[in-house]
Amino acid sequence: MVKDIQSSSKGKRPLIAMKFGGTSVGNAERMQNVAEILHDYAQRAELLVVVSAMGGVTDMLVNAATQASLGVEKQWKGTREELAHRHREVADKLLSASEQATILPRLAEQMKHFEDLCSGFTLVREVTPRGMDTLSSLGEVMSATLMAAILRSRGLKAEAVDATELIVTNNNFGNASPLFDETNAKTRERLASLRRAGTVPVVTGFRGATSEGVCTTLGRGGSDYSATILAAALDADEVWIWTDVDGVMTADPRLVPAARILPEVSYQEAIELSFFGAKVLHPKTIQPVMNKQIPVWIKNSFNPSCPGTKIVASPSNGQRGVKAITSVKDADLITISSRNTLTLPQLAARVFDGLALENVSTLTVTQSSADNVLSFAIHHADLPRVKTRLEKIFELEMLHDYVGVLEVMSKIAVVVLVGEHMKGTPGIAGRAFGALGREGINIIAIAQGSSELSISFAVKASDMKAAVKVIHEEFQL
Ligand code: ADP
Ligand code: ASP
Ligand code: MG
Repeated sequence: MVKDIQSSSKGKRPLIAMKFGGTSVGNAERMQNVAEILHDYAQRAELLVVVSAMGGVTDMLVNAATQASLGVEKQWKGTREELAHRHREVADKLLSASEQATILPRLAEQMKHFEDLCSGFTLVREVTPRGMDTLSSLGEVMSATLMAAILRSRGLKAEAVDATELIVTNNNFGNASPLFDETNAKTRERLASLRRAGTVPVVTGFRGATSEGVCTTLGRGGSDYSATILAAALDADEVWIWTDVDGVMTADPRLVPAARILPEVSYQEAIELSFFGAKVLHPKTIQPVMNKQIPVWIKNSFNPSCPGTKIVASPSNGQRGVKAITSVKDADLITISSRNTLTLPQLAARVFDGLALENVSTLTVTQSSADNVLSFAIHHADLPRVKTRLEKIFELEMLHDYVGVLEVMSKIAVVVLVGEHMKGTPGIAGRAFGALGREGINIIAIAQGSSELSISFAVKASDMKAAVKVIHEEFQL
């Protein structure tokens, strides 16, 4: 076990927000391991715990809701049995007799809630975004209930807290944004007595609630974000995100088995990596802690003695050149052209207005001024909304052929080289593209981030793995 807690700048026991992802709480053995980690650190730090649902549970809940809304009862009833079994098994193995007596009825209530929601969706043949949020984040309610009880069974003072009591969000169901002032006030108030009593709050990741109390979610993988939102609210000293890899790596280890751990990464690099698909962090994770300069560690719950990756404002090892490579698969490249009636700035203004209305971020943008052509890549999931919106905005122009129809190139991937110190280092793009050329990989579009923090290019999705590997080798990451 690591003993590397840095003492708090305020001279008190440091407050550390520790988040455990789905694989870290995936079964009784994993939860036991988490309890041991927490038990160890609770001696030396004040802890705030955030948990994800047990691995695979959120997917099961989303599928159950979808099937229920199609009127298929069999599938969600099967899910009900499986959920009950998985959580019950943990309770049987890890809870003391008195905790079992309190927790089993609570789990039964949560399963009843699942059943009521699914029956409702089946009845009306619909699942609304708010209904989906309430159901899909039920896994976190169950895992937090269990984790707090496991800690208590081991003699630690702990209490499960539903994040709907702490994190106040807007009503963008499925991908809600926190309202920080309200969240900070509520979090401090709700957790004050627990903190005074030395009780460890075990908070549900992923979910929050509107100011009217309606449950929302922060987007898939959002428990990382929950941890930093709460850490910022409480002015925590550090955030530790426990996952199933040793830290942030030079590439997705599933694509490049030779990927190496990065001991330190800057906030900016972490934001760029997560925006461009490095699943190890939810893309918004860094935002709440950046101004307060709270360090974020990525650590492996399967290998707790490994120090992991430290994410800070200015890493001490200012490594030059490319630091890591990441990629987004399932992207589409959209090309739109104005036939000399709209200038390129006018075309761009209306396109980006449309994207803003749909709240869609682009992955890369390129333009050809000579032909008045604008191309941009987006996540495939956003395509239907973007297409409908732009076809509406340019309805008249398209009718009269003033603006060309949207050309959509599907099944592309965006590959991104990231490194804060690529800035001012000549030859990086040349080396990358030279290596791709030698491998016979065709580049569809190229863009360099305006802060020189990233260079991105689009390739066919089928070339993505080879492209990531060849660049990783070229820069000897
Ligand atoms: P958790 O359930 O703990 O939140 P995730 O599955 O969301 O874990 O994120 C961890 C996974 O992110 C790793 O197992 C790894 O496959 C993937 N990953 C993608 N890119 C990277 C990267 N650059 N560094 C580390 N892990 C990465
Ligand atoms: N359980 C949620 C998900 O699978 C949130 C998370 O794990 O971060 O998306
Ligand atoms: Mg995750």
